[in-house]
Amino acid sequence: MNPVEVYKFGGASVKDAAAIRNVGDILRNPSPRPLAVVISAMGKTTNALEEIIRAHYHQPELLPELVGKLKSYHEEVATSLLADQADALMTDLHDLWVELNWILEEDPHPTYNYHYDQIIVFGELASTKIVSAYLTNQGIAHQWLDARNFIKTDAEYREARILWDLTQAAVDHEVRKALDQHGMIITQGFIGSTVYNESTTLGREGSDYTAAILAYTLDAESVTIWKDVPGIMTGDPKRFEFAQRMDDISYQEAIEMTYYGAKVIHPKTIKPLQNKGIPLFVRPFDHPDQYGTKIGAGTITDLPPIIVVEPNQVLFRISTKDFSFVAEENLKEIFTRIADLRIKVNSMRNTAISFMVCITNDPAKVSQLVTALQDKYDIILHEHIELITVRHADEQTLSMLKAGKEILFEEIYGKTHQFIIKNA
Ligand code: ASP
Ligand code: MG
Repeated sequence: MNPVEVYKFGGASVKDAAAIRNVGDILRNPSPRPLAVVISAMGKTTNALEEIIRAHYHQPELLPELVGKLKSYHEEVATSLLADQADALMTDLHDLWVELNWILEEDPHPTYNYHYDQIIVFGELASTKIVSAYLTNQGIAHQWLDARNFIKTDAEYREARILWDLTQAAVDHEVRKALDQHGMIITQGFIGSTVYNESTTLGREGSDYTAAILAYTLDAESVTIWKDVPGIMTGDPKRFEFAQRMDDISYQEAIEMTYYGAKVIHPKTIKPLQNKGIPLFVRPFDHPDQYGTKIGAGTITDLPPIIVVEPNQVLFRISTKDFSFVAEENLKEIFTRIADLRIKVNSMRNTAISFMVCITNDPAKVSQLVTALQDKYDIILHEHIELITVRHADEQTLSMLKAGKEILFEEIYGKTHQFIIKNA
């Protein structure tokens, strides 16, 4: 068998019938075989399901309308793709909604994260059913697989960790066999299951990671993530008009970019690929002939400045009530609170009088952290700030970014410049 290739299509690339037809065009031969294809939920479906979960706990009277909207969105796409040949697909979709409604008719599970995962998976299940039915209709051979049969995880719901040995064995058994027989498989990103077959998820935007897990366990030749951008850019083109696409970047550069908050690929995606030297391509689904960006081994010198902006941050300035230094014991305690609340620290700094941590301004988490610390510490919060990281900075880029802004703190290490600006 030739080496496997892995493709991943995100929500935007399957958001409506036209988008799914385009996916069909990309997957039609002569695209590579064997090919493992990972697909996200359609468009903003995951957000819509999050709303359904919220309503289930707090406003169940909204459920019929919310579920109804989701149903008709999927059914319209299905009908538009398959017209009078949509019967079998409609039955599959109907079965999914029945199953979803069973869950929603019961009281919500007391454990939010568990409950979330049991519901959120319907987005991926529905989208892959639709894409699969369309491909069958187009005569494109493949097999639909339920990713929960081979992406095996622990029970850390909403952020499940992969059980690699079990996953490897299940991929060898299920996915290899299907690829041998059909040349192509279609499966869901983002979702997995525990050893007890309870649904789990890998974290928002986790389908990139699914593609990497499949590539790793299948010893794939490469992974291609098809996106609505020309490739990996040196900044957000909506904000920086000079942003340009990069042809090639190293695994290390990609890891740094995602670590500092670049939303190009899910942060966990790179490591498994790097471990096996599997290259990752990010390519535009609306121009499938274009090269995009290749992430691979080696070092690439003379990269242009790369700008990563984390908007909507809040800076905690934490000091002791008795004016003593914030010392190791305090840091240990502060970090225990932060870790317990599952807050991600985006940047931090210790000074003589205070310890500063920059986190994303999620109001619930911010107030929980304030509550956890305020008995022992004085806390000053700075809001309306952005954390800006520039890799391979030059003077021109830095002064352009800082012009007219108040800089709350700045740090330089190696090739990385980082600063926090206050927006008026
Ligand atoms: N549908 C999921 C989300 O939006 C996973 C993904 O698209 O990667 O988070
Ligand atoms: Mg998505």
